Amino acid sequence: MENLISDLNVLSPLDTEQSENFTVSKDQSTGNKRKLYIESYGCQMNYADSEIVASILQKEGFDTTSNIKEADIIFLNTCSIREKAEQTVRARLTHVHGIKKHKPELLVGVLGCMAERLKTKFLEEEKIVDLVAGPDAYRDLPALISQVDEGQKAVNTFLSREETYADISPVRLNSNGVTAFVSIMRGCDNMCSFCVVPFTRGRERSRDPHSVVAEATELFNQGYREVTLLGQNVDSYKWSQEENNKAWMEKKGIRDNVVTFADLLDMVARIHPDLRVRFSTSHPKDITDEVLYTMARHENICKNIHLPAQSGSTRILDMMNRDYTREWYLGKARRIKEILGEDCGISSDMIIGFCSETEEEHQETMSLMDMVKFDFAYMFYYSERPGTLAAKKYADDIPLEVKKRRLDEIIVLQRKHSALRNSMEVNKVYRVLIEGFSKKTEDDLQGRNSSNKVIVFPREDYKKGEYVNVLVTDCTGGTLIGRAVGR
Ligand code: SAM
Ligand code: SF4
Repeated sequence: MENLISDLNVLSPLDTEQSENFTVSKDQSTGNKRKLYIESYGCQMNYADSEIVASILQKEGFDTTSNIKEADIIFLNTCSIREKAEQTVRARLTHVHGIKKHKPELLVGVLGCMAERLKTKFLEEEKIVDLVAGPDAYRDLPALISQVDEGQKAVNTFLSREETYADISPVRLNSNGVTAFVSIMRGCDNMCSFCVVPFTRGRERSRDPHSVVAEATELFNQGYREVTLLGQNVDSYKWSQEENNKAWMEKKGIRDNVVTFADLLDMVARIHPDLRVRFSTSHPKDITDEVLYTMARHENICKNIHLPAQSGSTRILDMMNRDYTREWYLGKARRIKEILGEDCGISSDMIIGFCSETEEEHQETMSLMDMVKFDFAYMFYYSERPGTLAAKKYADDIPLEVKKRRLDEIIVLQRKHSALRNSMEVNKVYRVLIEGFSKKTEDDLQGRNSSNKVIVFPREDYKKGEYVNVLVTDCTGGTLIGRAVGR
């Protein structure tokens, strides 16, 4: 499956879902003696969390390293979204075990969603693990590390009602110096029946908008030219001085002076016209016209919306607890094009083979894809996760071969749609933010246009971090090819 997806070759920093891949911390030298090595799995929110962890440990005397062998601490920041993601981490721990055999003083910690899901069970099942910390426990890492230094195992999987790490300035670990991610909220209150996230990341909390604007402004001043605002359901963002937890805000009936996602988008877009703004992920039940009109008002808010449909069948969507129907989804997709134009990119996540999905319902997913023609989609077959509503209520009854066949079918279809959407860009001129050299050669540069399409063009005297107008002259399935026509 991963090969087919990577064949689409449209991966970009907006990739929210690469749970089987991982990123590695970079070499940092601020003069700290001890070395921290972090591998981050899963979604961009996890990657952003690793940057918070690096920041907390920097103050404790650790610089990050990209060399696992020189580490004093190895952290795996894990993902639980599908079984395969967890298997990857288990395999990685076997490798880490080999390193620890030769370096018994090495501290091995497991962070993130898998840590939260398995808690102390992790210590029982994986003897080499010294420390387990859930996503809301990172401020406690210095104390947990001291506990391990004193010869004990350490665990903190407490989920907080209000933690957003708003005051912590992340250490950018995998940055190209041009684009960066900014977390705007944590947790999720949605309870989609297939999903483990509400259990591993807790209740939904929104981060103080002033701290979001301050972080984005600082990034701009450092030379960054694009920020992506991150949350599991950004359209549900709501913050008030008194309360940042959505459920509590509703319980207390707070309605005045509430900052919504449209307000936040507007605030970030006003920082500077040369700072591009993206966001992910939008939920079809929550995205409002107000958000779309805010996008239309600001040229620097990129015209691309990641709006996971998950399925094209209303019966399956109901079982998934997604709170919208096929018709509602199609209506939202139409509204996006009405307000933002045909050029606005729409991407999706799709799950096939959910419990009891029939062949006709699978065809409905294909027909929804045909109607919307997504620019890009992450596609998965259903993986039952322990403790979720679906695991409790429904049988995971679609045979693996059927799941794989249905997945292949939607991947082939999506590839066609991506190629079609790309071909519509030929002969047009786009403003591109240059992110660096193309993957193939340093003679070419690459960047993305507003709708998140990767464009490759000859380097000439253009540089990373600049905006350039590029005429698209050709395209492959996943990439646009062009030439610069001026700044
Ligand atoms: N919050 C986002 C949303 O609601 O669309 C996405 C969150 S999740 C980290 C990313 C994607 O993983 C989901 O959109 C879904 O397609 C997929 N996913 C989640 N649970 C899954 C499961 N049990 N099996 C297969 N795919 C799953
Ligand atoms: Fe999971 Fe649904 Fe929340 Fe997304 S919105 S994180 S799929 S529960």
